[in-house]
Amino acid sequence: MDFHVLTLFPDMVMQGLNTSIIGRAIEEGIINLKATNIRDYTNEKHGKTDDYPYGGGAGMVMQAQPVYDAYRAVVKDLPYTPRVIYLTPQGRVFNQQAARELAVEKGLIFLCGHYEGIDERVIEEIVTDEFSIGDFVVTGGEMPAMLMIDAISRMIPGVLHNLDSAEGDSFGDGLLEYPQYSRPEVWNEKRVPPILLSGDHAKVDAWRREQSLIRTAERRPDLIPKAHISPKEKKFLAEKFPELFS
Ligand code: SAM
Repeated sequence: MDFHVLTLFPDMVMQGLNTSIIGRAIEEGIINLKATNIRDYTNEKHGKTDDYPYGGGAGMVMQAQPVYDAYRAVVKDLPYTPRVIYLTPQGRVFNQQAARELAVEKGLIFLCGHYEGIDERVIEEIVTDEFSIGDFVVTGGEMPAMLMIDAISRMIPGVLHNLDSAEGDSFGDGLLEYPQYSRPEVWNEKRVPPILLSGDHAKVDAWRREQSLIRTAERRPDLIPKAHISPKEKKFLAEKFPELFS
């Protein structure tokens, strides 16, 4: 899968993603990552890419021309028409479901805004999807794009060497993941739950499932109505958390 990022800060994106699991996936050629510097495409002789907003107000706005020309330069070499994602606090809130949907694409272009954002006309011209990483505002689209690329990459076969670890993750089946423990058995006078040392896989699975249900009910009750839970599990939750079903 190809990830193209249109940005004023290509080093930030390349350095941010070129490590650990995603870095290895890039090295192995499972994913390709290319950051294109929008500044390289400005027609302005001093390399300017932003200007004052029409109508006044604080801040600067990224101009349409360099963004559009950077986009054209990227798509002209592609044998397919990619979706173009603009990172914006005004977009659909990104989640695991969206990561799964986007992971089947051949390639994606991410458009990162900065300052007060980007001239609306070029957004109308090239953008197919708008995504937000949450109801807060950060200074630029680079970190949101990096978060999305990381989450989408984990859904691509071969990126995680043990795919199970993506399937069991929080949100995999609409629930939060159970707590994890590693060695030693006792740390700071705290014991690992004995069932995890029992060697009984069925019991461990049942305990983990129960922990997932309890955690989700306690921490993210909003997820319960849409989670994949059996009638027996629903009864278990209804007894423990009657307020969830009243
Ligand atoms: N003035 C814009 C608004 O209120 O909608 C916010 C501009 S923000 C300071 C600069 C850039 O950061 C945006 O163009 C966008 O690319 C990115 N950004 C900020 N918050 C974001 C969020 N929650 N999700 C995705 N991108 C975000």
